[in-house]
Amino acid sequence: MNGTKTNGTSSTQPPQANGNVPAGPVLLNILVVGGGLGGLATAVALRRKGHNVTVLEQAPVLGEVGAGIQIPPNSGRLLESWGVSAFFEDKVVRPKDMTFRRWEDGSAIAYTKLRPDFSDNYGVPYYVVHRADFHKALHSRATQLGVNVTINSRVVSYDEAVPMARTEDGREFTADLIIAADGVKSTARRVVLGGEDIAPVTTGFAAYRAVVDTSLMRNDEDISWLLTTEGLNNWIGEDRHVMTYCIAGGSLFNMVLSHIDRSDPSTWDPSTAVQDMRRYFEGWDYRLNKVISLVTKTVKWPLISASTIPTWIAPSKKLVLLGDSAHAMVPYMSQGAAMAVEDGAALAEVLSSITSKRDMSKASQAYEKERMKRSYGMQTASLVNGKLWHFADGPEQRARDAGMSAEVEGRPFVESTNQWSDPTTQLWVYGYDAEEEMTKSWATVIGH
Ligand SMILES: Cc1cc2nc3c(=O)[nH]c(=O)nc-3n(C[C@H](O)[C@H](O)[C@H](O)COP(=O)(O)OP(=O)(O)OC[C@H]3O[C@@H](n4cnc5c(N)ncnc54)[C@H](O)[C@@H]3O)c2cc1C
Repeated sequence: MNGTKTNGTSSTQPPQANGNVPAGPVLLNILVVGGGLGGLATAVALRRKGHNVTVLEQAPVLGEVGAGIQIPPNSGRLLESWGVSAFFEDKVVRPKDMTFRRWEDGSAIAYTKLRPDFSDNYGVPYYVVHRADFHKALHSRATQLGVNVTINSRVVSYDEAVPMARTEDGREFTADLIIAADGVKSTARRVVLGGEDIAPVTTGFAAYRAVVDTSLMRNDEDISWLLTTEGLNNWIGEDRHVMTYCIAGGSLFNMVLSHIDRSDPSTWDPSTAVQDMRRYFEGWDYRLNKVISLVTKTVKWPLISASTIPTWIAPSKKLVLLGDSAHAMVPYMSQGAAMAVEDGAALAEVLSSITSKRDMSKASQAYEKERMKRSYGMQTASLVNGKLWHFADGPEQRARDAGMSAEVEGRPFVESTNQWSDPTTQLWVYGYDAEEEMTKSWATVIGH
């Protein structure tokens, strides 16, 4: 295959599998670069609409790094309607609630009821799941629909005018449109920006990710309640927080332990990560520390937030960015992958509405406009939590806690400093329908 031109398509037949929808008037050949959560979700969304889709993934084996991930209803609803949820249904946990706790003693300072409220209000449960199970579900649905996923295919250059992507072993893939879902270190972003990348910025936050086998927690009453309450539990305090929940059908306890860290990641020593992590949380709730003491392995990650870039579309309009390549964000709203799923939904929707290939550039621009508004808004909301959760004890912390107290005490409230509970924020985050919003935006472009 080296050096040959390969049309980036796998099949000329629209998919016939479950959940298929009527094909749009124009069927496109689409190449997706990157087989992460965003790339695969986009492939599913497009293939359902009849487009021919090939995904190129650089890794020799498909998979996901890290353990747990939250699937909030704004992406869960899409995954349900695309027939993806059926592939992870027996693997997810449906937490009953989310509680924010005081760093020192674990007392509740904020409370959001998730079950049944989120299903009742937003159509599907709030899920937490092992990333590997989520990724496998997307891959299974994509291949069931006839998406061609090709591993060992690292794209090293583009000719955006064609558009064409070239892999490091010299294969060239052409398509009507290339979607770069190649993550925060995107190679395509530079091409889209005309040769000069605007790199994402380090945020001064870092996170340890770890899991504990829940069988080690079941017999200790100080910590076994974390398994039986079926909730997300998050401890917040000065410059640090810990987010926890069960995954893998309840067999693993997932933890993301975040702290402010402005040091250079190249100086981080993996061999001392477990001890360093424990040191950050010395003096915090003894029950949290009991769980932390069970962690034997951890990896420290710098948390990155994409810069707001002027465009996600290459000059030819035939190469577009999607997911973390366009809008990486700190994980403090648990929405990064959800935004990539929404991007895929929006792009599939608008590309399936065009009546001529000539309208592809208008469609890409409509996608960019709608998705920039949404994802950069979510990026900001995520950074706000990075401030709110990390106050030192004092007037700001007390004001924050007072703003969340009604939900803990079961009193009615019309606003909250907890973004999971605040009614306006909640509706904006979880009530957003990416397909419907894209359809509305497109209607304004074409004057309907
Ligand atoms: C600690 C932490 C917790 C998080 N928690 C949540 C959460 O609870 N909920 C949520 O929604 N989000 C969460 N996120 C965010 C989420 O993980 C990301 O937003 C999401 O994974 C981005 O998906 P993506 O497909 O855009 O990029 P990636 O996952 O980075 O995938 C990019 C893919 O492209 C491939 N690739 C890269 N370059 C090339 C190339 N040149 N050629 C071919 N292939 C290439 C890579 O190998 C990879 O498979 C969290 C993030 C972190 C760090």
